[in-house]
Amino acid sequence: SVEVRLENLTKHYSGQVVAVDNVSLTVKAGEILALLGPSGCGKTTCLRMIAGLVDPTSGEIVVGGKPTTHTPVHRRNVGMLFQNYALFPHMTVAENVAFGLEMRGISKADREGRVKQTLDLVQLHAFGDRFPVQLSGGQQQRVALARALVIEPSMLLLDEPLGALDKGLRESMQVEIRSLQQRLGLTTIMVTHDQDEALTMADQIAVMHSGRLEQIAPAGEIYQKPTTRFVAGFIGASNFFEASVQQRSGRSARLVTASGLLLDVEDTGTIQGDKVVVTVRPEAVSVSPLAGDAGESRANSTPALVEQVVYRGFMLHYYLRLDNGDRMIAYRQTQTEGFGNAVSSAGDRVRLSWHGD
Ligand code: ADP
Ligand code: MG
Repeated sequence: SVEVRLENLTKHYSGQVVAVDNVSLTVKAGEILALLGPSGCGKTTCLRMIAGLVDPTSGEIVVGGKPTTHTPVHRRNVGMLFQNYALFPHMTVAENVAFGLEMRGISKADREGRVKQTLDLVQLHAFGDRFPVQLSGGQQQRVALARALVIEPSMLLLDEPLGALDKGLRESMQVEIRSLQQRLGLTTIMVTHDQDEALTMADQIAVMHSGRLEQIAPAGEIYQKPTTRFVAGFIGASNFFEASVQQRSGRSARLVTASGLLLDVEDTGTIQGDKVVVTVRPEAVSVSPLAGDAGESRANSTPALVEQVVYRGFMLHYYLRLDNGDRMIAYRQTQTEGFGNAVSSAGDRVRLSWHGD
């Protein structure tokens, strides 16, 4: 297992398109990093440069301390798994998995042992003699994973590997690949446009936007403390406020939006007058009846009108309009609210409150 470092990695396609623009990041040995971003932001190009399938325009790729920017693919020892896994249809599962070993000149006896071991690893020990067409989509993807792992790669590269699977299967495969990766301690870089997939699987998330790295941080941190509006929006629905710092005291700051909403937040190293973007997570907003409450606005607490309540299975989504015209969203667990028994419904006036962090 090795550390992977990208240094100012850049790719221009045929002069015009800047697919990857000056990306620098480090994936620690044994960690899994997700490259997350919308379609066309440069994720695949980035991964293909790491694999050696695309030649960078400039910048360096350093693997285990050694520059490998121009090392040919077959000398990089990377395991790869893509959405279109393309197993050889005329070969059995075992032959598909053995193929990479054969290419590397490994003896038949050694091949057999390693194939068996790897099929065990992906829980397909009983399927060695089957042909791909006899397997489900999830099983085929496991074979492709076995094929990537059997060569004992020093890193694993995954490009939207579960994109072709349906939701339930995708989620169980996410957890399965994650625990396998941890068990093997295998440095892994995965590409996804699915924020839930990134949050489920990755130690670190690197959010990309138009070829550039927007933010890189541990999964929890990127969700709790996005540093740009793009990241906040991409990682999950949120309430955004553009505000300026009105006052500082100790470890907190009081912010005010153009619409007059007051927000108290933890110290973010800002000074009075600074312009900032604040996000308030929908699940952090409590919704309560405006009982005997004058309905005045305070810091992190404001009256609002419920415009809509939507049942989303486990969660209730409240769409809210504040008196100043701002809109907010709040998520509450259906269970704590009681199904069909939301504390409030469309047309009600309520008080919203949240903690600033
Ligand atoms: P993502 O994987 O995030 O969807 P890609 O890395 O595939 O993004 O593409 C990034 C940008 O580079 C896009 O604008 C895409 O059209 C362009 N691009 C990708 N591959 C090529 C290529 N072989 N030739 C020219 N442009 C390309
Ligand atoms: Mg892609």
